[in-house]
Amino acid sequence: MFDNLKKGISNIIRGIKFRELSREEFEEVFSELELILLQNDVSLEVVERIREVLFGRLIGAKVPRLSRADELVLDALREAVSQILDEAGSLDLIEYIRSSKSRPFKIVFLGVNGVGKTTTIAKVAWRLKKNGFSSVLACSDTFRAAAIEQIREWASRVGVRVVSQDYGADPAAVAYDAILHAESRGLDAVLIDTAGRQHTNVNLMDELRKIVEVAEPDMRILVLDALTGQDAYRQALEFDGAVGVDGVIFTKVDGDAKGGSILTVAYALRKPILYLGVGQGLEDLVLFDKDFIIRNIFH
Ligand code: GDP
Repeated sequence: MFDNLKKGISNIIRGIKFRELSREEFEEVFSELELILLQNDVSLEVVERIREVLFGRLIGAKVPRLSRADELVLDALREAVSQILDEAGSLDLIEYIRSSKSRPFKIVFLGVNGVGKTTTIAKVAWRLKKNGFSSVLACSDTFRAAAIEQIREWASRVGVRVVSQDYGADPAAVAYDAILHAESRGLDAVLIDTAGRQHTNVNLMDELRKIVEVAEPDMRILVLDALTGQDAYRQALEFDGAVGVDGVIFTKVDGDAKGGSILTVAYALRKPILYLGVGQGLEDLVLFDKDFIIRNIFH
């Protein structure tokens, strides 16, 4: 996971030797570090924040006897990433639903086609079920005929129902139907799938706003593909600007993801990352854990 970033940082840090870091030495080390970070989809904004923390911690700091300079730098980097993720906050969805009085608990899933939105909804429904929560899926992606079939297949694997209408139906009406269905049966949650034909499509954003207006979700979760780097960042800004985002799930973290976009998006939105998708199966969803990320970037 995040091999490129991990190796790059480790190569730079390994060679560092100082007893007390001067400003010039800091700038030299940081310019190399900056390059690696930028190449791995860390935004300039986040690079600046990391720089601030490192600067504050390292300039004038003396390496204690028996310690190594590289350890000191690594600690400062861990601290910087930790602060960035703290600013985004954290949220355990299951605990959040458990403590919420809202029933059914309504979640709208947002994201462009292909990021893994449908798979992620199935994974979340599965996790809810394992934790004793009943749910229904709403197929508010009425734009793609295949979407209805796809979500039905997932639902039958999870063992939950789907509320859908025909291809071309009003997505907000489908969401509303699903909420009524959940209310009448006393279900705990409604998971609403939405269309994602193109995040730049104005009609799509209008459609999503309407779904959100009608469904009044307790949570708007944006699904992003960790492999898409800068694109994930642009999508995050766009969806957040148009509809609002309460939390993010990154998919395909098991692939060759560079990893930087996770920091970039968390920091840009100041919204928690809820889960990471790490495969194509129902169980392949892990709770986002700051320490896990830090361990995986700086080993
Ligand atoms: P949607 O268009 O956003 O609904 O995307 P889908 O749910 O259809 O997923 C698109 C592809 O990504 C499928 O082949 C999924 O199996 C795959 N996928 C989804 N999440 C993950 C993940 O976390 N890891 C991997 N490796 N593949 C994933």
